[in-house]
Amino acid sequence: MILDGHTTIEHNMPIAVLQDDIMQLWKRSQTAYTPTLIVNYGSVSGEYYWYQHTNVWEKERLMRFTPREVIDARSRHRTMLPEEEYINGHILSSKNLKRLSDAGVLVNMGAHGQIQGIGAHWEIWMMTQGGMSPHEALKTATINPAKSLGLDGNIGSLEIGKFADLLVLDKNPLEDIYNTEFIRYTMANGRLYDAEQMNETGNHPKPRTKFSWELYKNATAFPGTMKQQGMVADVGSINKTAGYLFLFRTPLWLLFGH
Ligand SMILES: [Zn+2]
Repeated sequence: MILDGHTTIEHNMPIAVLQDDIMQLWKRSQTAYTPTLIVNYGSVSGEYYWYQHTNVWEKERLMRFTPREVIDARSRHRTMLPEEEYINGHILSSKNLKRLSDAGVLVNMGAHGQIQGIGAHWEIWMMTQGGMSPHEALKTATINPAKSLGLDGNIGSLEIGKFADLLVLDKNPLEDIYNTEFIRYTMANGRLYDAEQMNETGNHPKPRTKFSWELYKNATAFPGTMKQQGMVADVGSINKTAGYLFLFRTPLWLLFGH
């Protein structure tokens, strides 16, 4: 694909060692690299690291902006692995992308649509697991992809004359990359939103409308309020129509995503 002149390579190279001929070819081609460690070829996908090590369903903001069925279906039934599976998996891929980055290849953050919102953060964090500094990892989500797509004249960094698309954080991600999660404001094309609720603020204050799943009576009713006779613990009350739709939609995406 590099020899064919592709602009970017999507997904990681599914091999453990990148030899010097590949390094030189890649560097001189100016083809960029979007490894999507979250879905890692040649080993277990990086997303499972975060299901294993964090309680994803307890992330309040993620749950606010995502139908709870989507998060529950992916995160509550965990695949638990010994750590070396990750070390020999997406972390090894991350070490390779660090080598490519050091050689001059543009590396880009791409979260593959596994889980909107937090997925992009995981991908940035996984960049650092292979040795990138927080600053290098942040560039994979900002100026690098802008350059890769030829859009760095308009987006990708804070400069006079560029579009006003930016995030304001409460904590410094250069000190701790996990601080990318603490977003105070989101500005899209010059319009300012409070990231907590995504109500527009600033010059045009306006509360957001509800997401479709927020209209369901039982949208946030898990863990449950519905007691059934004979059950030891409470069970969740699943919305009868929309809940099932979401439950079935997720595997369909997995099968036919691309
Ligand atoms: Zn893919």
